[in-house]
Amino acid sequence: MAEKIILTGDRPTGRLHIGHYVGSLRRRVQLQNEGGYKDMFVFIADAQALTDNFDNPEKVRQNVVEVALDYLAVGLDPSKVTLFIQSQIPELAELSFYFMNLVTVARLQRNPTVKTEIKMRGFGEDDAVFGSGLPVGFFTYPISQAADITLFKATTVPVGADQKPMLEQTVEIVRKFNSIYGDTLVEPEIVLPPNAASQRLPGTDGKAKMSKSLGNCIYLGETADEMHKKVMSMYTDPQHINVADPGHVEGNAVFTYLDAFCRDEHFGRYWPDYANLDELKAHYQCGGLGDVKCKKFLEKILNEELEPIRARRKEWEKDIPAIYEILRKGVEHAREVGAQTMDEVRSAMKINYFQDKALIEEQVRKYSL
Ligand code: ATP
Ligand code: MG
Repeated sequence: MAEKIILTGDRPTGRLHIGHYVGSLRRRVQLQNEGGYKDMFVFIADAQALTDNFDNPEKVRQNVVEVALDYLAVGLDPSKVTLFIQSQIPELAELSFYFMNLVTVARLQRNPTVKTEIKMRGFGEDDAVFGSGLPVGFFTYPISQAADITLFKATTVPVGADQKPMLEQTVEIVRKFNSIYGDTLVEPEIVLPPNAASQRLPGTDGKAKMSKSLGNCIYLGETADEMHKKVMSMYTDPQHINVADPGHVEGNAVFTYLDAFCRDEHFGRYWPDYANLDELKAHYQCGGLGDVKCKKFLEKILNEELEPIRARRKEWEKDIPAIYEILRKGVEHAREVGAQTMDEVRSAMKINYFQDKALIEEQVRKYSL
């Protein structure tokens, strides 16, 4: 068994939100605190963000520190986790370049997450007009993600459900690489959140996924007031018009958030009329329970979870230079690990011309016959 190495990252395209939290951040902090791993890496995927924000470098640059603040706010501890910035590791670009030989265009076109995201980001079919088409860099981002994971020989990748196709593709690339060049890279395993609600948290508008790019987010760093407005205007059940009407909990964002956040103990603290979420749902489904009451309950639970995160963020906001220093040190460590893997990759691929003494001797022999 390979030693446990944990890795994940986020695109600096905006602040992190509660979808990231239930989908991945919460699990990262838990894995960090459990310990027992050789190394844990959490990185800011600025190079990947540039694949669809290439014309907005300032946005990406500004959000690097926002994401780092969110990492520290949720409790990632730089003494236990290597936090780094993707673009500062040139070995990642190098490894991606070699991986490109191992993946076909058709295989990339079949990647369901790529398909969805191409639509979501509005890349047109026709790229006759410069800028409206699909950038090659974006199209090939699953390859770059495979490099992100394998350069660090990650075994354990805690992510949301949208990342499943990426992990599958990474495993394929590792198998192909190892079968052609010899055992070098490690197959990663995805660690998904425990329930469907957390695997893909919907937006406050009820849309399939809370996403920075869709503007339907509750951000980890926002104030209780800002959050209050969003919770109160959340999408529920359009057929639940009068309190007496029976309500639907499926597709009702308030109940999906409760699935992701609510524990039995919350009822004791905030709503002792019910013992657990099943009882609350049953009442809502029968009719006679208003949305506002459910929203207020959700708000209390979210505030309980987010209050310590907001407070820690405020503290770190006072020391921005320290954050850049953490990232710089993280880059240093990540580069050391990456350089080691690339030595192995180059030697496996027979492009280690200056390290391989036997090669020179072999050529000398060939020409001295
Ligand atoms: P963008 O719109 O720029 O892609 P995003 O909000 O989708 O941003 P990413 O940086 O792509 O965020 O995702 C980072 C991590 O958070 C991934 O592990 C992803 O699976 C997880 N994640 C993102 N959104 C959600 C969500 N709504 N529910 C659960 N997990 C999520
Ligand atoms: Mg995304």
